[in-house]
Amino acid sequence: MEEKTRIVIVGAAGRMGRTIRRLAEEEGDFAIAGLVDREAGLAALQEGSIPVGGSLEALGAQAAGAVAIDFTAPDASMATAAMAASLGVPLVIGTTGFSEAQKARLRELAQKTPLFWSANMSVGINVLMRLLPELARALGPAYDMEMVEIHHGRKKDAPSGTALALGEKLAEARGWELPEVRCSARDGIIGARPQKEIGIQALRGGDVVGVHTVYFLGPGERIEVTHQAHSRENFAGGALRAARWLSGRKPGKLYSMEDTFDLPGDGQR
Ligand code: NAD
Repeated sequence: MEEKTRIVIVGAAGRMGRTIRRLAEEEGDFAIAGLVDREAGLAALQEGSIPVGGSLEALGAQAAGAVAIDFTAPDASMATAAMAASLGVPLVIGTTGFSEAQKARLRELAQKTPLFWSANMSVGINVLMRLLPELARALGPAYDMEMVEIHHGRKKDAPSGTALALGEKLAEARGWELPEVRCSARDGIIGARPQKEIGIQALRGGDVVGVHTVYFLGPGERIEVTHQAHSRENFAGGALRAARWLSGRKPGKLYSMEDTFDLPGDGQR
C-alpha cells in the first residue's frame, strides 16, 4: 500500500484550508499532521487529536517529515516560507497577491527547501495557460485581448492571481511585458484604445468561486473563452496533488503546476 503523505495545513480555518482538510480526510491518501491558523481561527480548529498551532514553527516536531500547504495571505505566506526553509519542510503555496519582490524572495527560498507556488491549481486553468498563447498567435495582432474576472465579495486582491497569470501568457505571446500593457481601470475621456494593451477588469460580489473570460476582439468577430470554477474542491484537489508530488523533491527552483503533471492531451502533442 502506498504511504500516506503527511500534511500541515496553514490557514486551516479559512475557506481553502477547510476544503483541503475535508478532501484530505475523504481521500484517505493523506495524514493531517497539524493545522495552523491565526489566534482568532485557532479555537475553531481545537477539536479532535490533530495538533494545532499559530505557525509552522509552533508545531515543532509535528511538522518534521510533513509537507505544508499554505492558503493564507501574502505576508503570512512569506513568513511561512521562511520558516519552511529554516525547518527544511517542503511547502505548497496557493496564496495570491504577491508583489514582484515577494516572488523574487520565494525563488530564493526555493533554493533551501522544495517550494511550490501556483496562483491557480485547477486543471482547466492550467490547460488554458497553454492554449491561450496559441490562440493569440494564431489570431494575430488584429485581435485585441481583454479579460474579465469575477470573484466573491470577500476576495482581498484584484485582479485575481489567475487573471494576472493568464495575462502574462497573453502578453508573452505578443512579445510584451504585462506590467507595461495592463489596463485595469478605464474612466472618463480615455481616448482610443492603444493597440498595445491588455485590459483586465475585476467584478466582485456574492459567492462566486472564480470566473475568468478572455476576449479576442477582432474585425467583424470575437472569440470568448470562459473558465468557471464550480467549487473550491478543484483547487484543493490540485493543492493535495502538488503536496504529494513535492514530497521527496529536491530544492532548486520555485515549482509550479506546469512541473507536476502531464496535462490531458500531452501524449498527442
Ligand atoms: P480565507 O480568508 O478564507 O482564509 C485565509 C486563512 O488564513 C484564514 O483562516 C486566516 O485566519 C489565515 N491566516 C491569515 N494570516 C495568517 C497567519 N499569519 N498565520 C496563519 N494563518 C493565517 O481565504 P481563502 O479564500 O481560503 O483564500 C486564501 C488565499 O488563497 C487567497 O490569497 C486566495 O486568493 C488564494 N486562493 C488560491 C487558489 C489557487 O488555486 N491557488 C484558489 C483559491 C484561493
